[in-house]
Amino acid sequence: MKTSSLFLFIIGLFICNISNSQTNQKGFTIIPLGVKGGLDESNLSAYLVKANGAEQYICLDAGTIYAGLQKATLSNYFGPLHDATEIQKKFINSYFISHGHLDHTAGLVMNSPGDSFKKNIYAIPSVIEVLKSSQFSSKSWSNFANEGDKPIIGKYQYQYLVPEKEIEVNSAGVSVTPFVLSHVKPYESTAFLVRNQSDYLLYLGDTGPDEVEHSSQLENLWNHIAPLIQKKQLKSIFIEVSFSNKVADASLYGHLTPNWLMREMNKLYLLAGDHLKEVSIMVTHMKPCVNCETNIKEDLQKANSLGLKLYFPKQGEIINQ
Ligand SMILES: [Zn+2]
Ligand SMILES: [Zn+2]
Repeated sequence: MKTSSLFLFIIGLFICNISNSQTNQKGFTIIPLGVKGGLDESNLSAYLVKANGAEQYICLDAGTIYAGLQKATLSNYFGPLHDATEIQKKFINSYFISHGHLDHTAGLVMNSPGDSFKKNIYAIPSVIEVLKSSQFSSKSWSNFANEGDKPIIGKYQYQYLVPEKEIEVNSAGVSVTPFVLSHVKPYESTAFLVRNQSDYLLYLGDTGPDEVEHSSQLENLWNHIAPLIQKKQLKSIFIEVSFSNKVADASLYGHLTPNWLMREMNKLYLLAGDHLKEVSIMVTHMKPCVNCETNIKEDLQKANSLGLKLYFPKQGEIINQ
């Protein structure tokens, strides 16, 4: 082989490696940094996700960061690093925010002074508008992002997601497709479909049931993911159950109960069939109160006539899918 063609061959290998999203391993590594839907400000919705073998994580919602990373360091997930701020700087590549409610954003805002520059915040336009007007705003904090109130610090770049259009995050080895959800119409939330090669994971931000929301956003999402379930490509669905069945539809404020989750899962089952039973259903965003979590878990067991695999992620405990 001539020197010039050897050079081209090596360059080709290098490019191939990069476009392959830097990992040939299948599946995902997930670290929940926060799992609850309110009250306990040290444990609010935030999930680190990367392709197995990739260097960095994307952060799906960012209710709690610091306390979650501290907990995760107890298990040495980040090697010799044990300082939460250093881990955030080095290992979190970017943030995907489902909607602008504080229990999904407070960790990002509060930890912004210690974070490193040039990170992306990905969200649909209506969510970026909330972040700009009421969170990274000089009235409530400093503007660490790149648009909105002056002075602009510009540490974070807003990246406007187009619904149902996939984007690539190379350093985390994943691609992400957003889907709009209804969270008390017309307020929008987002689901993120994360892909590593042919494997998928679905994370939903807060959402009400279609029937209560007078919406078809969940139906649209189920239609998109049903073929992935049939082909056994979808590994897990992270979905909220905020309240027990005791809460009336009029008081749901854009959330699901065990009965409503299972009604939606039955609709998905009609589209996807028996393979839905092999998908891990990760129940998120339970709102704490005396006996609330126990009631939700009991209601879910009773309503689970399909025999779905239900899991309850814990803060700082790694999940491999
Ligand atoms: Zn929430
Ligand atoms: Zn919300």
